[in-house]
Amino acid sequence: MEIIEKNIDLQQKLQLLKIEGKSIGFVPTLGALHEGHSNLIRKSKRQSDITVCSIFVNPTQFNDVKDLEKYPRTLDADSALLKGLKTDFLYIPDKNEIYPKGLDTKVHLDFGNLFTVMEGAHRPGHFEGVVQVVKRLLDIVNPDQLYMGQKDFQQFSIIQHMIKMLHIPTELVVIKIKRENHGLAMSSRNERLTKDVRNKAAIIYKTLKAVKRKIKTHDFEFLKSYALKKLAIPDFNPEYFEIVDGNTLQSIHHYSDSNYIVACTAVWAGNVRLIDNIIMKKTV
Ligand code: AMP
Repeated sequence: MEIIEKNIDLQQKLQLLKIEGKSIGFVPTLGALHEGHSNLIRKSKRQSDITVCSIFVNPTQFNDVKDLEKYPRTLDADSALLKGLKTDFLYIPDKNEIYPKGLDTKVHLDFGNLFTVMEGAHRPGHFEGVVQVVKRLLDIVNPDQLYMGQKDFQQFSIIQHMIKMLHIPTELVVIKIKRENHGLAMSSRNERLTKDVRNKAAIIYKTLKAVKRKIKTHDFEFLKSYALKKLAIPDFNPEYFEIVDGNTLQSIHHYSDSNYIVACTAVWAGNVRLIDNIIMKKTV
């Protein structure tokens, strides 16, 4: 595995590989890697000829400065894990590489409803930062495949929209959620939970599954308030629980209203904010 810090070095190497006809798979991350990230790398290794993983804690997507400061940085362990998975390139740019002075890196595109619901409503500016960094990384890496997790459901919906609208020649591949044994979706933020709260956080997936069992027979308004109540155990504070169309992220009200239905939630567990989702119906 080669560790690269400068765009120009990465671009030169990837260009040569592309000329040889190799396909490039790209896994962008914030680091503090876990088995969820490993699955993205494994998929890229299977599907693409060359795998590039980036670690960049992007300041523009953190709407909360404290969250940015507290974000775990574990480069040595990350690097060892990626090496073990036979990642070809680990790209660790600094801020000046991603946001050089004088370059307008903002994405000027209308995301409509995709930006305003769920995470967009509760984390102002977050998705503007996400599309900014992903677009910039795509410009630098120019991958054939981009691997992202279903865990951040709204994020990949937005990136899919951007790829389509800007005609970016990259295929987005979505990887299912990797969970801890008791069901909690793996996240770098889980490390900040106390042992007790981490155990109790199993309630999130339990609630998503309970709603899925009832989805065909119960009113959606009832299900949403049922879920919010079920999630409100001591130390836990649900922020939202929404049942939406998997493409448009518009709220839906009846099982027959869409072929693709997803329930998404954000929950404060102690002082850590966790997100999770489950696909309720997909018949397309
Ligand atoms: P992050 O470092 O949190 O920005 O995540 C980098 C990528 O890994 C994103 O595409 C996430 O959706 C994905 N990811 C994070 N956690 C998981 C998980 N538990 N299972 C699958 N993918 C994940």
